[in-house]
Amino acid sequence: MRYVSTRGQTPPAPFRAVLLEGLAPDGGLMVPECYPRIGADTLRAWRGLPYAQLAGELMALFADDYAPGELARLTAAVYTAASFGTTEVAPLVDLEPGLKLLQLANGPTLSFKDIAMQLLGGLFQLELTSPAAALNILAATSGDTGSSAEYAMRGRGAIRVFMLSPHGRMSAIQRAQMYSLADPNIFNIAVEGTFDDCQDVVKAIASDVQFKQRHRLGAVNSINWARVAAQTVYYFSAYFAATARNGDPVSFCVPSGNFGNVLAGWVARCMGLPIDRLVVATNENDVLDEFFRTGRYRVRSRSQTLATSSPSMDISKASNFERFVFDLVERDSNRVRDLWSQLQSRGEFDLTQTAQWSGAAACGFASGRSTHADRVATIRSVHQASGRIVDPHTADGIKVARERCESGIPMICVETAQAAKFPETIAEAIGRPPLLSPELAGVLARPQRFQTMPPEVAAIRSYIEAHTV
Ligand SMILES: *Cc1c(COP(=O)(O)O)cnc(C)c1O
Repeated sequence: MRYVSTRGQTPPAPFRAVLLEGLAPDGGLMVPECYPRIGADTLRAWRGLPYAQLAGELMALFADDYAPGELARLTAAVYTAASFGTTEVAPLVDLEPGLKLLQLANGPTLSFKDIAMQLLGGLFQLELTSPAAALNILAATSGDTGSSAEYAMRGRGAIRVFMLSPHGRMSAIQRAQMYSLADPNIFNIAVEGTFDDCQDVVKAIASDVQFKQRHRLGAVNSINWARVAAQTVYYFSAYFAATARNGDPVSFCVPSGNFGNVLAGWVARCMGLPIDRLVVATNENDVLDEFFRTGRYRVRSRSQTLATSSPSMDISKASNFERFVFDLVERDSNRVRDLWSQLQSRGEFDLTQTAQWSGAAACGFASGRSTHADRVATIRSVHQASGRIVDPHTADGIKVARERCESGIPMICVETAQAAKFPETIAEAIGRPPLLSPELAGVLARPQRFQTMPPEVAAIRSYIEAHTV
């Protein structure tokens, strides 16, 4: 399996060569040269496999440059009841007639990001091929990515994590999850600025190729291909749980921001999984809903990006979207370069005049958006009907799923976080915050440790330089 860039100007490379990378050197994103095809025999053999084993099978298709059995050993060690609450890892439960809930937020930081990130921790560890080897991770977070990455890398002495977060702008729980980690390989840098400031600093430092090579800097943000690959697994496991036999259709509704989660669904379908529709749910920041309704992709500026009560979906442009468009334009990298240069110069591109776009339904997509009032009403109605408390992001998805559900085709709502992470919105919806688990209460009570810094590239760079392995 070789990986090529969506912009077509990077030499093909195997999985392990792209594992640590963010952007490809030509500014594109690395994707498999072609998606592995899953035939009827394989689907039959996979139905009924435990999650960890299914993950081993799928990852081995995306990454054939490991020794035989190495990935299976890794997935068996990662996808355990100890880390994810159950050996099912991603249980599927009934929500209401026609709708099911895929529970992805039972990992250590209570967001779906743990599923891929825990595996990434193990994959990074395998890159430490000699006793002297070391890795450094540099990333920016607005909340969920940071804690998920830190929990995946904590205790791995030769891997250091430098995580930039916006000082005073995260929720109390997000802050506590990150800043309470006492592991000496975790460096929390609280930047006096916004998430965008954090991301700018990361980009500036990571664009220095020499610095990047000298310190073996790895990326863990949502464009990391290994994360997308690891996320395909739960589309397969949910498919098997929702259907009686292979070939029966299901649809998924996915609360979306950077398009990483739903992209994994797209890849699963390209591999041959019988997915009827992928429904993209957004909040008020509806760049993606607008695209799927109109064929026009119009990114927003920072000032046009709203701070909402489903903050992990507050994005102005969707970083993984380029991978989907690459497939849509039949993998024509010249076309992708042209579209992204239009995006650069005009802030938008329009696919309606092209032969490859004939509406969302033609490529198996649908979309919808949700507002604060919608998600509060959805949290309330789900709670009244079932006693279940869903988080605001998952609620955005359920709101849209109810509108797009078709009779006879199960609609699987993808849960992206647990309600306990967002007590204010839950209290607004049902009159009280969700119960805190003893673990979470413990995290909130622990002392916090972080380094406050101004959003200055030079200063943060020297700090990293002084603390790398
Ligand atoms: C990251 C995140 C999302 C968005 O996922 P993408 O892969 O960026 O589309 C949605 N909800 C929660 C809770 C998240 O943490």
